[in-house]
Amino acid sequence: MNILLTLVLASSSSLTGCAPTGDGLELSAPKVTALDTVDDRTATLVDASKKIWEYAELALAEHRSSKLLADVLEAEGFRVERGVSDMPTAFVASFGEGRPVVAYLAEYDALPSLSQVVEPRQQAREPGGCGHGCGHNLFGAGSVGAGIALKAAMEAHDLPGTVRVYGTPAEEHGVGKVFLVRDGWFDDVDACLSWHPSRENEVDVQPSKALRSFEVTFSGRSAHAAGAPWKGVSALDAVEAFATGVNLLREHMPESGRIHYVVTNGGEAPNVVPSSASIWLFTRGKDWPEEERIFEHVKRIVHGADLMAWGEEHGDAAAGYRAPVIEMFTGLYHYNANHTVARLVHSNLELVGPPVFTDAEQAFARDLQRAFGVEEKGMHTVVEPLDPDPEPEPGGSTDVANISWVCPTIDLSVANWPLDVPAHSWASTAASGSSAGYKAMLTAAKVLASSGVDVLTNPELVRAMRVEFQKSSAKFPYVSPVGPDDMPSVPSHLR
Ligand SMILES: [Zn+2]
Repeated sequence: MNILLTLVLASSSSLTGCAPTGDGLELSAPKVTALDTVDDRTATLVDASKKIWEYAELALAEHRSSKLLADVLEAEGFRVERGVSDMPTAFVASFGEGRPVVAYLAEYDALPSLSQVVEPRQQAREPGGCGHGCGHNLFGAGSVGAGIALKAAMEAHDLPGTVRVYGTPAEEHGVGKVFLVRDGWFDDVDACLSWHPSRENEVDVQPSKALRSFEVTFSGRSAHAAGAPWKGVSALDAVEAFATGVNLLREHMPESGRIHYVVTNGGEAPNVVPSSASIWLFTRGKDWPEEERIFEHVKRIVHGADLMAWGEEHGDAAAGYRAPVIEMFTGLYHYNANHTVARLVHSNLELVGPPVFTDAEQAFARDLQRAFGVEEKGMHTVVEPLDPDPEPEPGGSTDVANISWVCPTIDLSVANWPLDVPAHSWASTAASGSSAGYKAMLTAAKVLASSGVDVLTNPELVRAMRVEFQKSSAKFPYVSPVGPDDMPSVPSHLR
């Protein structure tokens, strides 16, 4: 790194509070342009994060959030296709042409019941309202910032290739990316550079679980629950028998598997035998084949429970019998991290540096931790070393994983929540609307833009990512869990 570029980095870092620590990569002139562009757009990106945090729109209803980000990209000169893959709130914004293709992902859906003020005590902004407990207000704006910054570097330094920003709705239901992948939007991508707000600064190669989300609706026959219960067939009985069967299965399936459920319709009133009842489940496995085995067994339990509820009238349409219906919402593969991309993004995280938090931001973090009942450790301030082979941990699932089976993909985490504060909590919602959250968002934009410059300027790197991807993806040929005629949706009570 020469002295001039060091000075440029120091000045651009002071605006967003990043502390460069890495010396593994060169801060090339296109990277300086990219980092300066993020600094130039700080007000726009913070404003977008703030507004989306306030909109707090749920999955597939993120109309204002999606429009805001798509409008920002269009104003910056991106070609924007809106309403792609049967989702009014999905978009694909592109600049440039040909290969290599760099993909950034923008998420912007919120969570129910997490409305929260930016204060270290639990208090809703709007009672019963939604909130950004997963920080997707930052996720969306940060990736848009990365796209704008990479475009600026491409224009200023005549770099080849294409940058795309994908507006991917409904991450909390694992829906958006699955349908975009189904429709081939990622088929020509050379590197998908994703990120997620987190408690720590690290590049994540930890495997995620495969998951299927589906709702089972059992039918019955209404009757007076006291006067003529023998004339009724309780759909709720079927749900209860089904849940019992699922719970018996839990002990006898692989330890890495998971099944969890909520009853979404248990009938309307105790004095009417319920004619319809529904239960929404996630089945998970360490990988997609394990999940499929668990799901196949659960399907058999559906039919056993239905048989129990209908008894001797099972299958008799004349008596009003209707077979149970399984409505599939999504299927998520396990994550196929690309280690070549991971090393690249990790080096750029060290080059840009983790967010640097002020004393006031650290004090706010400790206040949040105290109010939440966890140790007052403050914010994470270093870059975790890249662990190429982490011990598998129990954990969740992500629709980024589906992309990881069609192109080289990696997930960056940047600290915006205080240590030990869980995602999807009132405290993580407060942190996602705070200045520490905006710093994390701007850091992510810089790291991803800087990594994008490497992808566009280093053909050898692109080849190495592709070779690794071809080897890893050969283990499980990707078959879309959703069919060509399936429509993106969430359970009926959330529509
Ligand atoms: Zn999330």
